[in-house]
Amino acid sequence: MLHLPVTVFTLFLMLLSFHSPTAGAASFSQQEEEQIERFQRYLRIRTAHPNPDYAAAAAFLLAEARSIGLRDVSLEFAAGKPLVLLSWIGSDPSLPSLLLNSHMDSVPAEPSRWLHPPFAAVRDAEGRIFARGAQDDKCIAVQYLEAIRNLKASGFAPLRSIHVSLVPDEEIGGDDGAAKFSASEQFRELNIGFMLDEGQASPKDEFRVFYADRSPLSLIVTAVGAPGHGSRMYDGGAMENLMDCVEAAAKFRASQFDQVKHGSKANSEVISVNPVYMKAGTPSSTVSHSVYIFPLEFCMILVLKAHSFVFSSKFCS
Ligand SMILES: [Zn+2]
Repeated sequence: MLHLPVTVFTLFLMLLSFHSPTAGAASFSQQEEEQIERFQRYLRIRTAHPNPDYAAAAAFLLAEARSIGLRDVSLEFAAGKPLVLLSWIGSDPSLPSLLLNSHMDSVPAEPSRWLHPPFAAVRDAEGRIFARGAQDDKCIAVQYLEAIRNLKASGFAPLRSIHVSLVPDEEIGGDDGAAKFSASEQFRELNIGFMLDEGQASPKDEFRVFYADRSPLSLIVTAVGAPGHGSRMYDGGAMENLMDCVEAAAKFRASQFDQVKHGSKANSEVISVNPVYMKAGTPSSTVSHSVYIFPLEFCMILVLKAHSFVFSSKFCS
């Protein structure tokens, strides 16, 4: 059984006491204003897929780490995808260490649908900051660094070493980030006894700590059917065939979500199913619509998250 070291609890307290700018927030101290300003600088780095600016994100994090006095290493398990590893060496480095993880990349943002540009990190009169990646999960990295900065300033010296890993590609599966890092010699040498990663966002200064996460599984569903002119109606079209799968997935999703709504299970205890992508039709370069032919194929990607999967060919019949 792993006992949480005092360092972890101290760090938790520091994390929890880091004030986020919530709606209606009054004023912040000079120190808090500087923390928020550093957070905004990180948020202004364009880290959204499909072209996250990892070089700029890594440069920012390395500069922050050096200003705090952390040992830093920039690893690269895939070209153009740096992984920043920061270390605060404990007084007894032989003990199992603590690893704090956060990812540098963000999901895409459509500027036209935002109140403020998604990478401007605008802070409004109520103290709210608008930025893609603010919650998922640049706030995590900044909280780690600010907590360490405060602990160092207070004279605290950890018994165990504390490492912070800032990884690429989490939003697209992590194959070139956390997966390669966790299989590396550098990871093994860290001798990690306890690790903390992202959880769910909180609108308050309270955070739920989870001790497990579900694994993602992407299902690519391709439905085929009879093609034809777009002005006619046919039986057995690809869309009809896809609907069978959509309905099965929707029914299963409702059965899982109902358990959450009724309070019998937590979000983390059910299997989530969500369509994330659909593709069909033939784009036209002359009109704003697809050309008027009924598509031969509809493709849909469903993402499932569960603690484990048992495969069956019966999910979509
Ligand atoms: Zn995340």
